[in-house]
Amino acid sequence: MTDAILPTLPATRPLYAGGPEISCVAWGMWRFGNVDLKTARARVDAAFEAGITLFDTADIYGCDMPGGFGHSEHLLGQILADAPALRDQMVLASKGGIVLGTPYNSSRDYIAGAIDASLIRLGVEHIDLWQVHRPDMLTHPGELSEALQTAVASGKVGAVGVSNFTPAQTDALRSAMDIPLVSTQPEYSPLCLDPLLNGQFDAAMQHGMAVLAWSPLGGGRIADPATDREKTIASALDTVAETFGVSRAAVAFAWIAAHPARPIPIIGSQTPARIADARDIHTVTWTRTAWYDVLQAAMGQQLP
Ligand code: NAP
Repeated sequence: MTDAILPTLPATRPLYAGGPEISCVAWGMWRFGNVDLKTARARVDAAFEAGITLFDTADIYGCDMPGGFGHSEHLLGQILADAPALRDQMVLASKGGIVLGTPYNSSRDYIAGAIDASLIRLGVEHIDLWQVHRPDMLTHPGELSEALQTAVASGKVGAVGVSNFTPAQTDALRSAMDIPLVSTQPEYSPLCLDPLLNGQFDAAMQHGMAVLAWSPLGGGRIADPATDREKTIASALDTVAETFGVSRAAVAFAWIAAHPARPIPIIGSQTPARIADARDIHTVTWTRTAWYDVLQAAMGQQLP
């Protein structure tokens, strides 16, 4: 039996059944801020030029910058105010529920207020995907489901998802909801294999949820490895990068997206030339052996 090529990625796919079409890669705005409008716009343009249409932000992004809580959303809002046509070209995802110093609040009133505040900062009437940023252990899933369903029913939000939820927390919320929970956003990269191994990807495939993979380069450590494990992973990725003539980062993104749950790597780079690597995700193809080679390098052991 030959080691066949795994299925290649489509150019686009629906975010959820009947939902907007999205790219196989997203661009993230955790590190977006503290720059002038021209520089900020160049990053957004670089994402579009790389074929990215899914943009992921959160109300808390920028909280560590002088602009504070809401800064990244506000900066994107300024770009959209200058160029309103961009809004229709992007599928806009945001998040809320982290409160500095608390740290979490997913109560009905808080969520309603957080979504309204995000809409104002972004200067839009509608967020395509609104995600609960982290699980609030003090909100009953029944209350959270009502808050999310109210947001969708109001038209302020197109669909809802979760981030950093365990499979059990996701299940509890899903079972309280009358509308689909369309996405989950865990950390995932060769450096963080948790959702591959803890049932999250299986549940996402079972329930048709999109998976958005945060820190696909481990926050940059895969691009700039320091530890032995990071160097082993980098070397496994480099073997594939040489074959296809692309960057190590592009191979990491392609490795993430090759899983049948079709995780969407959220590129965190704020450097236009690096954001451009997203396009190369379609250049890389995988055999089972090559994909498992990277996994085994990441696990530091051969699978039995
Ligand atoms: P990442 O892609 O793993 O890391 C990006 C960082 O790596 C940037 O600082 C980038 O620097 C650096 N980097 C160094 N060399 C690079 C290279 N060759 N290519 C690309 N980047 C290189 O992603 P992340 O920023 O940690 O996270 C990505 C997104 O995930 C965030 O923007 C956010 O949307 C989402 N996120 C979500 C959560 C959550 O709790 N839901 C948590 C964290 C992140 P330069 O900017 O200088 O290129």
